[in-house]
Amino acid sequence: MIHKTRTAESPKKVRMAFLRSNTSVDFTSTFPHARFLSFIMLFALPMSIVAKSKGTNEPLLYREGFLQVVSPDGATAEQAREAAKQVLAAWKFDLNVMQWGHPAEMQRPLTLRLISHDRMKREHNGARASASRSGNKISVDMTLIGDESINRTFAHELGHVQMFRALGKYSAGSAVPTYFLEGHGQMLNQLYSDHLGQDRSGPGASIVRSMMSFTSEEAHDILTDPSYFKVGTAAEKADKENKMERMGLYFVEYLRVRENIPDTVPRIGRVGELVGHGRTYEQAFKQAYNLSLNRTLSEIVTYFKQTETHPADRIKGTRFEEYLQ
Ligand SMILES: [Zn+2]
Repeated sequence: MIHKTRTAESPKKVRMAFLRSNTSVDFTSTFPHARFLSFIMLFALPMSIVAKSKGTNEPLLYREGFLQVVSPDGATAEQAREAAKQVLAAWKFDLNVMQWGHPAEMQRPLTLRLISHDRMKREHNGARASASRSGNKISVDMTLIGDESINRTFAHELGHVQMFRALGKYSAGSAVPTYFLEGHGQMLNQLYSDHLGQDRSGPGASIVRSMMSFTSEEAHDILTDPSYFKVGTAAEKADKENKMERMGLYFVEYLRVRENIPDTVPRIGRVGELVGHGRTYEQAFKQAYNLSLNRTLSEIVTYFKQTETHPADRIKGTRFEEYLQ
């Protein structure tokens, strides 16, 4: 349940983009005879509805390589194809960043579920998207199709999928703390939107505000208490989950900039692979970064204490500095 993207982006903007994307299908350029087209559609449509996906009972809309796209909520074949194209591009980008040690494992079948906004609310607490711990499936709010933000959401969730595959049987439990998993997901989100040249000034400013708002106690709780975001009312939990994700993102950037480890992000993958082979997170962290986990965590907490009265210092020199207002 926790592996989902919860970025604050306007749902209205998203829905309008969805409507726009639906008007762009032009069949007549492919089929010159409209009558012939409707004849084909009569047969093609029911067949595509009848087809069921492997491993689920949901209608199969599209398949390409290791990816199948299903929808229990009536997404169109055109939407499925568009989303698949974006998933495959984001998947490749993530693979390239992470340089996983077991490429064959990464090519296992993957299912993309296009689900309604309401079902997303019911099944995934209103998240934009969610990756299953099996590493075999992601679900996305299909109203996001057509909005550019879906690309970075895919990069985030697919980062989780690849990590879960590397973790293997250890993906189900809490072998790797959530702040670290989410720091990874959030960083891919950031890197991919930079790669695509997207304007992230809105979400970027919000991320920076969160990073500046943390007290050293909060930093300590998020980094050391696995139940931090699981306690409180639904609204409190959502708020804490958001903070945990941003603290995780800061943690990754702290390693890169303050500990001077330029390849911090692919090393996240090494941590996952080592845990997948039975090391503890602490051992894997030590091996991948050549740093003591506990000392690094307490250094960060001390740093947050030192910068409480001038928190903009936390942002200077990081990739988030451009969002500092
Ligand atoms: Zn996530």
